[in-house]
Amino acid sequence: MEKIRIEALSKTYASKGGRVTALEKVDLAIQQNEFITLVGPSGCGKSTLLKLIGVLIRPSRGVLLYDGAPLSQPPRDIGMVFQEAVLLQWRTVLDNVLLPAEILGLDKTSARARAMHLLELVGLAGFEDRFPRELSGGMQQRASICRALIHDPSVLLMDEPFAALDAMTREELGFELMRIWDTDKKTVVFVTHNITEAILLADRVVAMSPRPGRIAKIVDIDLPRPRTIDMEFTSQFKSYSDQIRAVIYHGGGVGKR
Ligand code: ADP
Ligand code: MG
Repeated sequence: MEKIRIEALSKTYASKGGRVTALEKVDLAIQQNEFITLVGPSGCGKSTLLKLIGVLIRPSRGVLLYDGAPLSQPPRDIGMVFQEAVLLQWRTVLDNVLLPAEILGLDKTSARARAMHLLELVGLAGFEDRFPRELSGGMQQRASICRALIHDPSVLLMDEPFAALDAMTREELGFELMRIWDTDKKTVVFVTHNITEAILLADRVVAMSPRPGRIAKIVDIDLPRPRTIDMEFTSQFKSYSDQIRAVIYHGGGVGKR
């Protein structure tokens, strides 16, 4: 079943320096419970596309459909995670996770039970009464993932959520995210500029090229799940990464890096 459909979506920003076309005529259909990664160099429009999908900004042109229909109100059914955990420093981990539940007026007892369950899933059991400053960057980001999932959204949008973390924590969190997704299926759109991360996580990698941002290629990742780190060293994985590298820098031809 199709969850999200994007048709001829364009976004032009008007700023002092002139107009920037961040995204030009992007078409994309995302299936329910699919894990999509958006990959491309800095400035190619990944965040713009994710914000459009999350209705944080409006398109200049084009159509966005959820379950076949345009949204009539701001989407409640979405959870978002950004590069920085942005936790409230004066609230405990548990109270940070519960914040969206409070705003949405969800039942307190069941929200609390779900929060404890999520914290356990990401390895933060026992840390619920700590304050954000007592946690490492990786732990804070784990908490912010729990916060994004507290209202059980069917869509999870993530904008370079692990980019600020060290390589090992990043890898660990990637596998944790896949484990959560496996037990509690959601439609995930995950932005990264790391090609390896993009392949390892995804059902499909959407490779974008810059100026203006377009989809250069969509690659089906036909690796079995659960994914393992050694898959990275297979020839199949290398072929995926070569295909992606070839298109994201110049929309074809030979990659720069
Ligand atoms: P990415 O996330 O891939 O790095 P962005 O979507 O953030 O790319 O940006 C795409 C392009 O749009 C860039 O050229 C960026 O400078 C420009 N841009 C992004 N947001 C704004 C804004 N609010 N006003 C003006 N230009 C913007
Ligand atoms: Mg970005």
